[in-house]
Amino acid sequence: MQTPTAPELTSAAAPSWIVGDIALHRVDEAPLPPATGRWLLPTATADVVARHDWLQPDFADHEGVLHLSSHSFAFSVGGRRVVVDTGVGNGKTRANPAWHNLRTDYLRRLTDAGFPPESVDLVILTHLHADHVGWNTREADGQWIPTFPNARYVTSRAEREFWAGHDMDAARQQMFRDSVHPIEDAGLLDLVHVPAEGMDIAPGVRLIPTPGHTPGHIAVQVSSHGATALITGDCIHHPVQLADPGIGSCVDIDPAQSQATRRALLASLAGTGTLVLGTHFPPPTGGHVSSHADGYRLTPVPADRQPAAHRTSRAA
Ligand SMILES: [Zn+2]
Repeated sequence: MQTPTAPELTSAAAPSWIVGDIALHRVDEAPLPPATGRWLLPTATADVVARHDWLQPDFADHEGVLHLSSHSFAFSVGGRRVVVDTGVGNGKTRANPAWHNLRTDYLRRLTDAGFPPESVDLVILTHLHADHVGWNTREADGQWIPTFPNARYVTSRAEREFWAGHDMDAARQQMFRDSVHPIEDAGLLDLVHVPAEGMDIAPGVRLIPTPGHTPGHIAVQVSSHGATALITGDCIHHPVQLADPGIGSCVDIDPAQSQATRRALLASLAGTGTLVLGTHFPPPTGGHVSSHADGYRLTPVPADRQPAAHRTSRAA
């Protein structure tokens, strides 16, 4: 709870959720433009959205326009400091105008949340799309250098190998040049085999294969003292896909697999009390999944604005 004397309760304090003894912070990059939803999830029409009134007002407006955002999650576990996904990044040349040449305060917010970049030990990339790898690097003296120089960056081997064998267009080649190759060239990227049952990457941190959006996509499960959270990545882009798991994104590489993954994941989450944290879910971002009508719904679990959790370990 907030108290009048708490020194850290500023607008910079990252929203956070407590899972066991882990504080999971959302580090905001930017809301995505209103046109994003209709492009990304073309079958989530205004009529479809209107049928699920629990989506309003947080997840959609009264005209059926979906809200989406870009953010990372950061937490400490077992002494390791972890960031999941790295957003769009600043100053990147991108075909998508919403992602082109951003100038956000993301790094300041990450630092204010208690995670100065040099303190981060592990960066987990759910998949290798431009809006999940951008802050892998930052620009310094005309070069793209690793933002997290002391971290191991991790993604699935299946994901990296898929893109290595993929005929990439110029825009995607650019993204790999500025956001993936520099961390590979620095020897910081670890490729891990993620078996069907998942694998632990740190104590209480489990990578869950969730293919379809991309072939090697992983979700990230965080467990502590009997409590569990699941960070979705892009196997679910928006809560409207709980209402109708058949709603796919236009950028799913294997739409049928994506839907099958989403249905299996939602069935496994419903009624469990697992805190689902959506990588593109707008605030309140987190919630519990329950069965509802022909599908599911998300009951929001709002973040508590709390003092930055790691004040003593902040950079001077
Ligand atoms: Zn995404």
